[in-house]
Amino acid sequence: MAPPKRYHLVPKPVLDEQAAATPAGRLLAAASIASRLLQLARVHRWHELGRDLSAVPAHVMLEPDQAAALAEHDEVLHQLYQPVDKDNDPPAVFLQVCLGCGSWSLASTPRGKSGGTTKKCNLTLQCPGPTTKASVASTRPQIALGKDKDPDA
Ligand SMILES: [Zn+2]
Repeated sequence: MAPPKRYHLVPKPVLDEQAAATPAGRLLAAASIASRLLQLARVHRWHELGRDLSAVPAHVMLEPDQAAALAEHDEVLHQLYQPVDKDNDPPAVFLQVCLGCGSWSLASTPRGKSGGTTKKCNLTLQCPGPTTKASVASTRPQIALGKDKDPDA
């Protein structure tokens, strides 16, 4: 059997460089990556991945800065929830972060409802927001530098 392709994770949404460097931006990235790691490992909650994330499949490549963001926000990530059995488990719990004030809240979309979330900040009075949902990170194959050697060729 061929080893699984290695790939990287791309946090969603993609923020501009300035927003991505703020504490709120890093929290968004951490929550986005964490949600994907839960899906990839087929577990519901963050603690099930282990303190050293040993339950994360070995072919998922975390960049050092991504690993650092996960460590920074470890406590918040314990609040996330991902269904494993899509038909029977409760819907996912995800994070909403306000890029204006840095506050965050948890949200969930009941099954059968559309994922519309409010953009206005209701976490801090007079804050214009916007709040941003940490969507599940996408995956991107590792860029191959030169031809991969195929041992079976
Ligand atoms: Zn706010």
